[in-house]
Amino acid sequence: MSDPKPYSGSCHCGAVRFTVNLDLSGVMQCNCSLCRRRGWLLTFVPADAFTLDAGADHLTEYRFNKKKIAHLFCRTCGVQSFGRGDGPDGKPSVAVNVRCLDGVDLSTLPVKQVDGASF
Ligand SMILES: [Zn+2]
Repeated sequence: MSDPKPYSGSCHCGAVRFTVNLDLSGVMQCNCSLCRRRGWLLTFVPADAFTLDAGADHLTEYRFNKKKIAHLFCRTCGVQSFGRGDGPDGKPSVAVNVRCLDGVDLSTLPVKQVDGASF
């Protein structure tokens, strides 16, 4: 783990905007039925490291399987920039779509493959 840094991010149309403190050493790609369709790269942060700056009224929630994670997507452009749920430690956490962050060179990131389809 490296030190968390502040990033800003948004959905495609810009209605949903957020700031988050995270480090990019733990980025994951998951093969579960939703993640493989969505094609996002994600990392988890404690809920208090994430601030939704705009767009709460644009978010639509989708839950599936055990329905523990609220997948939140923009009702205008359809992009899911984050989701909310409980982390492995039971504390509120946010799954951030690293593809939605500003100023991140995705080609330089180490990406861990997660076998979510088997969970
Ligand atoms: Zn949008």
